[in-house]
Amino acid sequence: MSTSYTIPKTQKAAVVESVGGTLQIKDDYPVKQASELAPGECLVKLEFTGVCHTDLHAAKNDWPVPAKTPLIGGHEGVGHIVAIGEHTQDSPVKVGDRVGIKWLAYSCLECEQCRKGNEQVCVKGKYSGFSVDGTFSQYVVSWVSHVTPIPANLDSAEAASILCAGITVYRAIKHSQTHIGDWIVLPGAGGGLGHLAIQYAVAMGLRVVAVDTGAEKRDLCLKLGAEKWVDFKETKDLVKDIKDATGGAGPHSTIITAASNAAYEQAIDYLRPGGTLMVVSLPGQGKLSCDIFFTVTKAISILGSYVGNRQDAIESLDIAARGKVKCYYTLKPLSALQETYEGLEEGTVVGRVVLDMKQTLVYHFWVFSSRHDS
Ligand code: NAD
Ligand code: ZN
Repeated sequence: MSTSYTIPKTQKAAVVESVGGTLQIKDDYPVKQASELAPGECLVKLEFTGVCHTDLHAAKNDWPVPAKTPLIGGHEGVGHIVAIGEHTQDSPVKVGDRVGIKWLAYSCLECEQCRKGNEQVCVKGKYSGFSVDGTFSQYVVSWVSHVTPIPANLDSAEAASILCAGITVYRAIKHSQTHIGDWIVLPGAGGGLGHLAIQYAVAMGLRVVAVDTGAEKRDLCLKLGAEKWVDFKETKDLVKDIKDATGGAGPHSTIITAASNAAYEQAIDYLRPGGTLMVVSLPGQGKLSCDIFFTVTKAISILGSYVGNRQDAIESLDIAARGKVKCYYTLKPLSALQETYEGLEEGTVVGRVVLDMKQTLVYHFWVFSSRHDS
């Protein structure tokens, strides 16, 4: 016996109609029906979705590449598969499975980058809440090859933000060329990505200097395992304070998740020789400027890190399911999305905001019937 679902014709969705336009909550947005799904596509009924600063960039359209419009943002969703496109072959998931929607919704799995595990940069890549509609709606279309099974012992609301923030910082730390006992500095530590980065770093045996601002973020960062704290708004000398926090020599790596150009400016100065700058945040129209002389003579590595592949998704969720990493979030309804964007803009969101998509459901009936997973 398995589950089959009644799929409504319309749904509630948060829609940005035009490039850089305002957000509107609609009650009558069409739901793609099971018969309309292409082979390989699946329809997921969402329970929860996190709100990432990327969603704000996409809604504001402040990147060099524009988002689709009309746009339904969101790429940290957890829900159940309610339908799979007819003629889908070898699906790794079935109707009824609890899965996550991440930024990378689809990649071809055949090109050189996909074969090497760099599926995030597949030329045929599709991105949830950017080039295809995302999770700020009750139902989302995704692809069976890329939805991520959620471990049974991980709560859906807690899993949501692992699907972007968690995967991203987990992979960035893995590639940061650090080893157990090394110092890592995390500018943006009190935000969505940053507060998870503290916990993944600690789980990997790294020592953390958290950089952000305000007492609430400081308390959270120290509670989550950061050994040192630097308030970027209060410090008189950021480079000195970060170096002092690590005993004088500076950190072995910095993972920048602060959505501001300023956060990159002094990274080369405070890193220890041989250190690694992980470029993660995506400030609109941002330019990386660094002193070439010191980048060379300190033998600094500068690496861009872009979300993660399917394996990173599974590994980062597994670490969360084993209790090593826990998302600190405030639960809100979909109608609070606009105020959440304003909070992200002003820097007042501590940890993450997760939206409870069940609160907005118009139809909640589902029935047990025969298998429906072809
Ligand atoms: P967030 O708003 O939750 O967190 C950012 C934090 O940075 C805030 O706590 C803010 O107070 C802090 N901050 C701002 N200026 C700072 C400064 N100068 N120094 C130190 N801290 C500072 O945002 P988020 O959801 O964590 O996303 C962060 C960025 O990462 C965004 O630009 C987002 O688009 C990007 N992102 C990149 C990837 C990727 O694959 N590389 C994935 C997800 C998100
Ligand atoms: Zn994101």
